[in-house]
Amino acid sequence: MEKILVSACLLGCRCRYDGKSCADARVLALRDRYILIPVCPEQLGGLPTPRNPAERRNGGVFMNNGANVTAAYEKGAEEALRIAETLGVKKAILKAKSPSCGKGLIYDGTFTGAKIPGDGVTAQLFIKSGIAVETEETFVL
Ligand code: SF4
Repeated sequence: MEKILVSACLLGCRCRYDGKSCADARVLALRDRYILIPVCPEQLGGLPTPRNPAERRNGGVFMNNGANVTAAYEKGAEEALRIAETLGVKKAILKAKSPSCGKGLIYDGTFTGAKIPGDGVTAQLFIKSGIAVETEETFVL
């Protein structure tokens, strides 16, 4: 079976900033046809759970208390890529709008819920590295 790397929160892991998951039934149903590999880049980057929400701004990532967490997000992206490359994964389904996992549209850095065109740090690295990225809102399989 083909492998797909998936944002762990979409598979029910409580790794989100608020300690909750965002399990997605459509994504979970893929387990019958694919090997799903759960990964949470923010935890892989060393961030605690729960943690303050963060958004991308000016090329970096900042928490809502102003803390610059860019390095942790970059480390998490690199570790997630390491897993994908080690296992020969070519496809990923990542959580929409996240500063790590979002693709095409992300929160704008103002913590108001507003969104702007852009990718999360991990999605960006995956795309650059030749991994096909979709979100739970866009995938068709
Ligand atoms: S970093 Fe990605 S996998 Fe982890 S909680 Fe955020 S959206 Fe989910």
